[in-house]
Amino acid sequence: MQTEKLYEQDATLRAFEATVLACEPHGAHFRVTLDRTAFFPEGGGQPADQGTLGEAHVLDAHARDGVVWHEVDRALQPGARVQGLVDDARRMDFTQQHSGEHIVSGIVHRLYGYDNVGFHIGSGAVTLDFNGELAASDLARVERMANEAVWRDLPVRAYYPDAEALAHIAYRSKKEIDGALRIVEVPGCDVCACCGTHVQRTGEIGLIKVVDCIRYKGGVRVSILCGARALQDACDKHDSVRQIGAMLCAKSAEVVQGVRRLMDERDALKAQLDAVWGRVFADLAAQTPEGAPLAVAFLPDLAPAQVRRLASALAERAQVGAAFSPDGDGCRFALCARDADVRPAGKALLGALGGRGGGPRDMVQGSVACADEEAIRAALDAALRA
Ligand SMILES: [Zn+2]
Repeated sequence: MQTEKLYEQDATLRAFEATVLACEPHGAHFRVTLDRTAFFPEGGGQPADQGTLGEAHVLDAHARDGVVWHEVDRALQPGARVQGLVDDARRMDFTQQHSGEHIVSGIVHRLYGYDNVGFHIGSGAVTLDFNGELAASDLARVERMANEAVWRDLPVRAYYPDAEALAHIAYRSKKEIDGALRIVEVPGCDVCACCGTHVQRTGEIGLIKVVDCIRYKGGVRVSILCGARALQDACDKHDSVRQIGAMLCAKSAEVVQGVRRLMDERDALKAQLDAVWGRVFADLAAQTPEGAPLAVAFLPDLAPAQVRRLASALAERAQVGAAFSPDGDGCRFALCARDADVRPAGKALLGALGGRGGGPRDMVQGSVACADEEAIRAALDAALRA
């Protein structure tokens, strides 16, 4: 027996009574069928409702061949009358997202002729896949029109037209649907074949916000937030901007300039620091006589790129430049030579002290598992003689 779908007749219904028709084990849980239900089963991109059936928690719901199966955490007695309660916040959320999706997809279809080829309500943003590209300005236009539809508080109609009436309705549909087809209509915005739950008037959706758009499978994947999700997102972003503003001593509207100023300052300091290190490295190299076989320098807290730069500065004076930067129990290093292959020496050094590293003929870098300067110098001398 097919389940009477109360959620199709009245999407606002949360409490109902029904008779348990069947109950069977289902993994660690049970699944039951009822003569009637207000629990929406997963379908058309909308997740299933949750709630309670008597003492049992409804964890999931699926429909097959017109029968809604409720996954519950305890067995229910066939023949028993049970009170069903649908989780209101969860349903309201999905309903806001789903109706918002219809409006956006309908407007995109009308303005640009693209189809919605994928729709998913997850826990974050709702994603809509279109089979054509949309520019930022197109999306701004769609978003504006979608919100205007909300402001006008339009009535949303969900109904089963008969075959003759259906023949005269131009509607969006993802696939051929067997059996009776349900139409959901938002006047002036959208007509779509859909099994989901929808608001009664568009005003219930609240804000419709486009939050992202990426290229996807030859079209675009647009992310939107509606209603309570859009409000939460606005609150979170407002809070972030306010905190950033406080850190920058800038008004909320001026945080972008504030961050840009910080980045400019950071870039200038980085360039200044680079120049200072350059002078330090040149001074260290100048202590080595021109053409010496080896120049070694130890300098703590250098980043790998600076260790290489120091080795290369030393190799400007000596045949081999060896830079070391102690870091905890180990030491970063780089060996550099203008005209020699430093790879064998690097290998011998790593063999003697442990560690890891490698590189091309003229520059070997890595870190040795030793921070003792005397031991490193001795190992380096031995490695270069080998
Ligand atoms: Zn739908």
